[in-house]
Amino acid sequence: LLQMKNVGKSFGALEVLRDIDLTLHKGEVLGIVGESGSGKSTLGRIAIGLDLPSRGEVLLNGRDVLKPDAREKPAEKWRMQMVFQDSLAALDPRYTIADSIREPWVAFPGRHPANPNAAIDDLIDAVGLKPEHKDRLPHQLSGGQRQRACIARAIAVEPDVIVLDEPTSSLDATVQAQILALLLRLRSERGISYILISHDIGVVRTLSDKIGVLHKGRMVDFGAAEDVLNNPGNEYTQHLMSAVL
Ligand code: ATP
Ligand code: MG
Repeated sequence: LLQMKNVGKSFGALEVLRDIDLTLHKGEVLGIVGESGSGKSTLGRIAIGLDLPSRGEVLLNGRDVLKPDAREKPAEKWRMQMVFQDSLAALDPRYTIADSIREPWVAFPGRHPANPNAAIDDLIDAVGLKPEHKDRLPHQLSGGQRQRACIARAIAVEPDVIVLDEPTSSLDATVQAQILALLLRLRSERGISYILISHDIGVVRTLSDKIGVLHKGRMVDFGAAEDVLNNPGNEYTQHLMSAVL
Protein backbone atom coordinates (compact mmCIF):
# COMPACT_ATOMS: atom_id res chain seq x y z
CA LEU A 1 0.00 0.00 0.00
CA LEU A 2 2.55 2.57 1.18
CA GLN A 3 6.27 2.29 0.77
CA MET A 4 9.15 4.60 1.62
CA LYS A 5 12.55 4.00 0.11
CA ASN A 6 15.65 5.70 1.38
CA VAL A 7 13.71 8.74 2.48
CA GLY A 8 15.69 11.60 3.96
CA LYS A 9 14.72 15.09 5.07
CA SER A 10 16.82 18.10 5.89
CA PHE A 11 15.79 21.55 7.02
CA GLY A 12 18.74 23.62 5.87
CA ALA A 13 21.83 22.07 7.43
CA LEU A 14 19.76 20.07 9.93
CA GLU A 15 19.29 16.45 8.86
CA VAL A 16 16.05 15.31 10.50
CA LEU A 17 15.45 11.97 8.72
CA ARG A 18 17.96 9.64 7.17
CA ASP A 19 17.67 6.45 5.07
CA ILE A 20 14.10 5.64 6.09
CA ASP A 21 12.73 2.42 4.55
CA LEU A 22 9.29 1.18 5.47
CA THR A 23 6.36 -0.78 4.08
CA LEU A 24 2.73 -0.65 5.15
CA HIS A 25 0.22 -3.21 3.84
CA LYS A 26 -3.55 -2.82 3.67
CA GLY A 27 -5.23 -3.01 7.08
CA GLU A 28 -1.94 -2.93 8.99
CA VAL A 29 -1.12 -0.69 11.91
CA LEU A 30 2.43 0.60 11.95
CA GLY A 31 3.49 2.14 15.23
CA ILE A 32 6.29 4.71 15.19
CA VAL A 33 7.98 5.40 18.53
CA GLY A 34 10.83 7.68 19.40
CA GLU A 35 11.70 10.53 21.69
CA SER A 36 10.86 14.17 21.13
CA GLY A 37 12.70 15.56 18.12
CA SER A 38 13.48 12.15 16.62
CA GLY A 39 11.55 13.04 13.45
CA LYS A 40 8.23 11.23 14.00
CA SER A 41 5.92 14.06 12.94
CA THR A 42 8.13 14.90 9.97
CA LEU A 43 7.90 11.26 8.85
CA GLY A 44 4.09 11.36 9.21
CA ARG A 45 3.80 14.55 7.20
CA ILE A 46 5.96 13.14 4.42
CA ALA A 47 3.89 9.93 4.38
CA ILE A 48 0.69 11.85 3.57
CA GLY A 49 2.35 14.36 1.27
CA LEU A 50 2.01 17.40 3.55
CA ASP A 51 5.77 17.76 3.33
CA LEU A 52 8.21 16.69 0.64
CA PRO A 53 11.26 14.56 1.39
CA SER A 54 14.71 15.88 0.48
CA ARG A 55 15.76 12.46 -0.78
CA GLY A 56 14.20 9.10 -1.59
CA GLU A 57 10.86 7.81 -2.84
CA VAL A 58 7.33 7.54 -1.44
CA LEU A 59 5.14 5.01 -3.24
CA LEU A 60 1.38 4.70 -2.80
CA ASN A 61 0.00 1.55 -4.42
CA GLY A 62 3.27 1.31 -6.31
CA ARG A 63 3.02 4.84 -7.73
CA ASP A 64 5.53 7.53 -6.91
CA VAL A 65 3.44 10.19 -5.16
CA LEU A 66 6.21 12.76 -5.57
CA LYS A 67 6.01 12.87 -9.32
CA PRO A 68 4.29 16.13 -10.24
CA ASP A 69 1.58 14.41 -12.30
CA ALA A 70 0.55 12.25 -9.35
CA ARG A 71 0.70 15.11 -6.88
CA GLU A 72 -1.67 17.24 -8.89
CA LYS A 73 -4.33 14.55 -9.01
CA PRO A 74 -6.68 15.38 -6.15
CA ALA A 75 -7.82 11.76 -6.18
CA GLU A 76 -4.50 10.78 -4.62
CA LYS A 77 -4.90 13.17 -1.73
CA TRP A 78 -7.93 11.76 -0.01
CA ARG A 79 -6.26 8.35 0.22
CA MET A 80 -4.19 9.66 3.10
CA GLN A 81 -5.56 11.53 6.09
CA MET A 82 -3.96 12.78 9.30
CA VAL A 83 -5.19 13.21 12.88
CA PHE A 84 -3.17 15.48 15.14
CA GLN A 85 -2.51 15.69 18.85
CA ASP A 86 -4.07 19.13 19.19
CA SER A 87 -7.69 18.62 18.14
CA LEU A 88 -8.60 22.24 18.89
CA ALA A 89 -6.01 23.53 16.43
CA ALA A 90 -6.93 20.86 13.85
CA LEU A 91 -10.56 22.00 13.56
CA ASP A 92 -11.66 25.34 12.17
CA PRO A 93 -13.08 27.28 15.16
CA ARG A 94 -15.81 28.85 12.99
CA TYR A 95 -17.17 25.54 11.69
CA THR A 96 -19.63 23.30 13.48
CA ILE A 97 -18.58 19.67 13.82
CA ALA A 98 -20.93 18.71 10.97
CA ASP A 99 -19.39 21.36 8.69
CA SER A 100 -15.87 20.21 9.55
CA ILE A 101 -16.79 16.65 8.59
CA ARG A 102 -18.43 17.90 5.38
CA GLU A 103 -15.47 20.03 4.33
CA PRO A 104 -13.27 17.33 2.73
CA TRP A 105 -16.23 16.29 0.54
CA VAL A 106 -16.32 19.81 -0.84
CA ALA A 107 -12.55 19.75 -1.37
CA PHE A 108 -12.63 16.31 -3.03
CA PRO A 109 -15.94 16.20 -4.91
CA GLY A 110 -15.33 12.62 -6.02
CA ARG A 111 -15.82 11.51 -2.41
CA HIS A 112 -19.19 13.16 -1.97
CA PRO A 113 -21.74 10.66 -0.59
CA ALA A 114 -25.20 10.48 -2.16
CA ASN A 115 -26.85 11.71 1.03
CA PRO A 116 -24.37 13.88 2.97
CA ASN A 117 -26.64 14.50 5.97
CA ALA A 118 -27.30 10.82 6.51
CA ALA A 119 -23.59 10.11 6.03
CA ILE A 120 -22.72 12.67 8.72
CA ASP A 121 -25.20 11.05 11.12
CA ASP A 122 -23.57 7.67 10.46
CA LEU A 123 -20.07 9.07 11.02
CA ILE A 124 -21.09 10.82 14.25
CA ASP A 125 -22.51 7.53 15.46
CA ALA A 126 -19.51 5.48 14.25
CA VAL A 127 -17.08 7.50 16.37
CA GLY A 128 -19.32 7.46 19.45
CA LEU A 129 -20.54 11.06 19.38
CA LYS A 130 -24.16 12.05 20.02
CA PRO A 131 -26.47 13.76 17.47
CA GLU A 132 -26.44 16.98 19.52
CA HIS A 133 -22.67 17.29 19.06
CA LYS A 134 -23.12 17.87 15.33
CA ASP A 135 -24.08 21.53 15.60
CA ARG A 136 -21.52 22.49 18.23
CA LEU A 137 -18.35 24.45 17.64
CA PRO A 138 -15.02 22.76 18.46
CA HIS A 139 -14.54 24.63 21.76
CA GLN A 140 -17.95 23.39 22.94
CA LEU A 141 -16.73 19.77 23.06
CA SER A 142 -14.35 18.02 25.45
CA GLY A 143 -10.90 17.05 24.21
CA GLY A 144 -11.90 13.41 23.78
CA GLN A 145 -15.09 14.35 21.90
CA ARG A 146 -13.10 16.68 19.66
CA GLN A 147 -10.63 13.95 18.88
CA ARG A 148 -13.57 11.71 17.92
CA ALA A 149 -14.76 14.49 15.59
CA CYS A 150 -11.29 14.65 13.99
CA ILE A 151 -11.41 10.88 13.45
CA ALA A 152 -14.90 11.18 11.89
CA ARG A 153 -13.56 13.84 9.53
CA ALA A 154 -10.59 11.64 8.59
CA ILE A 155 -12.69 8.54 7.82
CA ALA A 156 -15.36 10.56 5.95
CA VAL A 157 -13.44 10.29 2.67
CA GLU A 158 -12.74 6.56 3.14
CA PRO A 159 -8.96 6.91 3.07
CA ASP A 160 -6.55 4.00 2.68
CA VAL A 161 -4.24 5.27 5.42
CA ILE A 162 -4.66 7.57 8.42
CA VAL A 163 -1.57 8.98 10.08
CA LEU A 164 -2.32 9.50 13.77
CA ASP A 165 0.24 11.86 15.29
CA GLU A 166 0.06 11.50 19.08
CA PRO A 167 -3.76 11.23 18.89
CA THR A 168 -4.23 10.53 22.60
CA SER A 169 -1.29 12.33 24.23
CA SER A 170 -3.32 15.23 25.55
CA LEU A 171 -6.14 13.02 26.90
CA ASP A 172 -6.48 11.39 30.31
CA ALA A 173 -5.91 7.63 30.60
CA THR A 174 -9.60 6.62 30.49
CA VAL A 175 -10.40 8.71 27.42
CA GLN A 176 -7.14 7.57 25.83
CA ALA A 177 -8.24 3.93 26.23
CA GLN A 178 -11.66 4.75 24.70
CA ILE A 179 -10.10 6.40 21.67
CA LEU A 180 -7.68 3.50 21.15
CA ALA A 181 -10.62 1.07 21.34
CA LEU A 182 -12.46 3.20 18.76
CA LEU A 183 -9.46 3.12 16.43
CA LEU A 184 -9.25 -0.67 16.74
CA ARG A 185 -12.94 -1.04 15.95
CA LEU A 186 -12.80 1.27 12.92
CA ARG A 187 -9.82 -0.60 11.64
CA SER A 188 -11.57 -3.97 11.73
CA GLU A 189 -14.85 -2.54 10.36
CA ARG A 190 -13.37 -0.44 7.58
CA GLY A 191 -9.99 -2.00 6.84
CA ILE A 192 -8.15 1.30 7.20
CA SER A 193 -4.39 1.20 7.74
CA TYR A 194 -2.84 3.43 10.38
CA ILE A 195 0.52 4.91 11.03
CA LEU A 196 0.33 5.51 14.77
CA ILE A 197 2.92 7.96 16.01
CA SER A 198 3.58 8.15 19.74
CA HIS A 199 6.37 8.65 22.23
CA ASP A 200 4.42 6.21 24.44
CA ILE A 201 5.35 2.62 23.70
CA GLY A 202 2.35 1.46 25.77
CA VAL A 203 -0.02 3.13 23.29
CA VAL A 204 1.86 1.78 20.30
CA ARG A 205 1.95 -1.82 21.56
CA THR A 206 -1.84 -2.03 22.09
CA LEU A 207 -2.57 -1.36 18.40
CA SER A 208 0.42 -2.08 16.22
CA ASP A 209 1.17 -5.03 13.95
CA LYS A 210 4.52 -3.52 13.08
CA ILE A 211 6.72 -1.14 15.02
CA GLY A 212 9.40 1.23 13.84
CA VAL A 213 11.74 2.89 16.31
CA LEU A 214 13.09 6.30 15.35
CA HIS A 215 16.22 7.57 17.03
CA LYS A 216 17.85 10.79 15.87
CA GLY A 217 16.18 10.53 12.48
CA ARG A 218 17.14 6.93 11.79
CA MET A 219 14.89 3.88 11.87
CA VAL A 220 16.97 1.84 14.30
CA ASP A 221 14.44 -1.01 14.53
CA PHE A 222 11.60 -2.01 12.20
CA GLY A 223 9.60 -5.22 12.12
CA ALA A 224 6.70 -7.27 13.49
CA ALA A 225 5.54 -5.79 16.80
CA GLU A 226 6.35 -8.93 18.86
CA ASP A 227 9.85 -9.12 17.43
CA VAL A 228 10.62 -5.49 18.16
CA LEU A 229 9.06 -5.67 21.65
CA ASN A 230 10.49 -9.04 22.70
CA ASN A 231 13.79 -9.07 20.87
CA PRO A 232 14.84 -5.49 20.34
CA GLY A 233 17.83 -5.74 18.08
CA ASN A 234 19.03 -2.28 18.78
CA GLU A 235 20.57 -0.88 21.94
CA TYR A 236 18.36 2.20 21.84
CA THR A 237 15.18 0.09 21.56
CA GLN A 238 16.35 -2.01 24.53
CA HIS A 239 16.82 1.19 26.49
CA LEU A 240 13.32 2.35 25.49
CA MET A 241 11.76 -0.99 26.56
CA SER A 242 13.57 -1.14 29.88
CA ALA A 243 12.06 2.23 30.74
CA VAL A 244 8.48 0.88 30.50
CA LEU A 245 8.62 -2.84 31.41
P1 ATP B 1 7.84 15.40 19.21
O1 ATP B 1 7.76 14.06 19.91
O2 ATP B 1 8.30 16.47 20.12
O3 ATP B 1 6.57 15.73 18.48
P2 ATP B 1 9.02 14.56 16.70
O4 ATP B 1 9.71 13.26 16.81
O5 ATP B 1 7.67 14.58 16.11
O6 ATP B 1 9.02 15.27 18.11
P3 ATP B 1 9.66 16.36 14.55
O7 ATP B 1 8.55 17.30 14.83
O8 ATP B 1 9.56 15.48 13.39
O9 ATP B 1 10.00 15.50 15.84
O10 ATP B 1 10.98 17.25 14.42
C1 ATP B 1 12.25 16.68 14.19
C2 ATP B 1 13.28 17.79 14.08
O11 ATP B 1 13.01 18.55 12.91
C3 ATP B 1 13.28 18.78 15.23
O12 ATP B 1 14.63 19.07 15.55
C4 ATP B 1 12.58 19.99 14.67
O13 ATP B 1 13.03 21.17 15.28
C5 ATP B 1 12.95 19.93 13.21
N1 ATP B 1 11.92 20.53 12.33
C6 ATP B 1 10.68 20.06 12.13
N2 ATP B 1 10.00 20.81 11.24
C7 ATP B 1 10.85 21.79 10.86
C8 ATP B 1 10.75 22.90 9.95
N3 ATP B 1 9.64 23.14 9.24
N4 ATP B 1 11.83 23.71 9.84
C9 ATP B 1 12.96 23.46 10.54
N5 ATP B 1 13.13 22.44 11.41
C10 ATP B 1 12.09 21.62 11.56
MG1 MG C 1 5.80 15.26 16.78
